[in-house]
Amino acid sequence: MTRRVYIETYGCQMNVADSELMFGVLAGAGYERTDEPAIADVMLVNTCAVRDNAEQRVIGRVGELQRHKRPGDVLGVVGCMAQRLGPALLAQAPRVDLVVGPDAYRSLPELVGHAAEGERRSETEFRSWEHYEDVPAIREPGPTQFVTVQRGCDYRCTFCIVPYTRGPERSRKLDDVVREVRSLVEAGASEVTLLGQTVNSYHDGESDFADLLRGVGAVDGLKRLRFTSPYPTEFTERVIEAMAQTTAVCEHVHLPVQSGSNAVLRRMLRRYTRETWLEVVDRLRRAMPGITFSTDVIVGFPGETEAQFGETLSLLREGGVDEAYTFKYSLREGTPATRLKEFVPDDVASDRLARLIDLVREQSRSRNLGRVGQVHEVLVERPARKGGMMLGRSRTNFLVLLDLPASARGQYHTVRLTGTTGSTFTSVPSASRGLDVL
Ligand code: SF4
Repeated sequence: MTRRVYIETYGCQMNVADSELMFGVLAGAGYERTDEPAIADVMLVNTCAVRDNAEQRVIGRVGELQRHKRPGDVLGVVGCMAQRLGPALLAQAPRVDLVVGPDAYRSLPELVGHAAEGERRSETEFRSWEHYEDVPAIREPGPTQFVTVQRGCDYRCTFCIVPYTRGPERSRKLDDVVREVRSLVEAGASEVTLLGQTVNSYHDGESDFADLLRGVGAVDGLKRLRFTSPYPTEFTERVIEAMAQTTAVCEHVHLPVQSGSNAVLRRMLRRYTRETWLEVVDRLRRAMPGITFSTDVIVGFPGETEAQFGETLSLLREGGVDEAYTFKYSLREGTPATRLKEFVPDDVASDRLARLIDLVREQSRSRNLGRVGQVHEVLVERPARKGGMMLGRSRTNFLVLLDLPASARGQYHTVRLTGTTGSTFTSVPSASRGLDVL
């Protein structure tokens, strides 16, 4: 009888890629993928541990999924929250059978087998050699694909749980990455995003991230190459030169800053200053005209004063950031920041977050208004939520509404931007192939 596995994914793109990997591991043991928890024999929740509210959501969701459990079925929590809590999670959630960290997915068939016989287990050992190189991931087919090139992190930002849930940094072999990208392109993808916690610190022997960009960028048929998330100080001259000289590399960088205050950056153990972050933005702008930037910002980090928060606002203005993912600091047990004093009261942090969001919206709206009339090449990605339109993305990461049928998914169209809602553009087809096409 066919056994079915359902995986629900929370958190970052790395988790999405890991879920595809887990489908691959379990397919090797005869499991089929299902999107229906009610008919699944195995239900896994792939979790994030970066913020407390993400963990609370998972606890709630696990409670809901329990309803679908029949005798012999297995309910597991996997990913970063599983790694962080380990056996404590088994004690806290009696109907959870399995707790599996990101380095132990290879053991899933065996662990699931034991769990189906009533043996509850937690498997959270770090395996610094683990790349899952021989496991073929099972992906949703589509024009855009994610490829993990590095796992773990050697930085120790004081707020971050990731080094404790994903272990030390390790990179895949360059040839293996290129081979995987080639096979994705052969299967119909034309855009690939390379994933790593500090992706531009990638290294394989003598080869660095610049070599990786050039190697992947040379794959025949690959039109677009993106990467996330880079660490600001890892943008060496070699990397920037490779970005500028590799046609597939897109004119958009997600460049996390976290704070605009040097004092806060020091307490976060971010290894750059406001000035060096702005310098990286400037060097990238000079190397790649038309490039756009998004970033991550945390407000209310312990000890953040009103003046220091003001420096974050001014940095976003000065840097001309187009989009920012904004968060209130969330205390994570086991991270160095728990030892810092002067916690910012929640109402103060909430007020700062609201002001930050206002600034980002306003800035992105006014920058986007200035772009109306530009011509861009867009890749048609998926149906838009409303209006029977399709949604496409420019190389600069602009989301563009397109009056095209669903069958246009995966096609490239050149359009003129006709208006903006603030974050999304409307468009008409354009015959232009001039210099303003990005
Ligand atoms: S670089 Fe810092 S924020 Fe990013 S994963 Fe590593 S420790 Fe966390």
